[in-house]
Amino acid sequence: MFSYRHAFHAGNHADVLKHTVLIATLQHLLQKDAALTVLDTHAGAGLYRLDGDYASTSGEAADGILRLLAPGAPTPLAPALQDYLDMVRAFNQGASTRVYPGSPFIAQRLLREQDRIKLFELHPTDARALAGNIAQLEAGRQVAVLVEDGFECIKKFLPPPARRALVLCDPSYEIKSDYARVQDMLQDALKRFATGVYAIWYPIIARPEAHELPRRLKTLANKAGKPWLHATLTVKSGKQAQPERRPGLPASGMFLINPPFTLEAALRQALPQMAQLLAQDRHSSHVLEVGS
Ligand code: SAM
Repeated sequence: MFSYRHAFHAGNHADVLKHTVLIATLQHLLQKDAALTVLDTHAGAGLYRLDGDYASTSGEAADGILRLLAPGAPTPLAPALQDYLDMVRAFNQGASTRVYPGSPFIAQRLLREQDRIKLFELHPTDARALAGNIAQLEAGRQVAVLVEDGFECIKKFLPPPARRALVLCDPSYEIKSDYARVQDMLQDALKRFATGVYAIWYPIIARPEAHELPRRLKTLANKAGKPWLHATLTVKSGKQAQPERRPGLPASGMFLINPPFTLEAALRQALPQMAQLLAQDRHSSHVLEVGS
């Protein structure tokens, strides 16, 4: 079974990027009345304690969300980044940030009565935690937790009843084959439901598969004749030049097919601020590119 546990990484710079994009995308999609289906192919545990053992051990949130929430963080922030911070604050009481919402809770909080969310999580411990956390919401039929392979099992939900869906695909990439599975899943999903919004997170690391993935996704989107958006956030050099610093993910990216037309402008404002505020060395940077 997998050893990846998102609790170690919750609230890190990659979550800042991913969850800012998720919120901005959902806000746009929820402007239309018709029901939306959200498929979260790799859901995680849903809620994380930032003062718990996992997060304290890794300290990743300290260089992520906690930097943005620290007193003295510059204002005004870009609206998309501000909406993300407001979302995290909504899960916490008072000034301290102890709880970090994962993608299932962020999405569920934004959804309306008519919308549905399916959460796929294969790790038995995280699936149990997710089911327990979701049960407390008493959200009834709106939220379904499925202990199933998200890559494979979204097929049965595409196309969705009202023909509106956001698929968030956020694997741990613990297994090398995850990169190819993302591509296969997208290819199949676009055949089943060409107008869906697909949002893929991936790590930018020194591994050929990781390097190749955005290039392959661009080719896939271009061949399908679909618009795409690619955003990356780098917080430090990929080379471990400073041995005294703990290793960690240097950068990550979000690739969207059929992105909301409002997302590019939102990220043009938010990404430079993320790169500036989350920089761990002078190599911090961002990229935003779109294709149609
Ligand atoms: N999306 C979550 C968020 O933003 O809060 C974080 C998800 S975490 C990066 C990836 C999760 O996928 C892990 O909890 C892992 O156990 C789970 N997982 C790995 N392979 C899976 C698969 N094939 N189907 C469903 N879940 C899987």
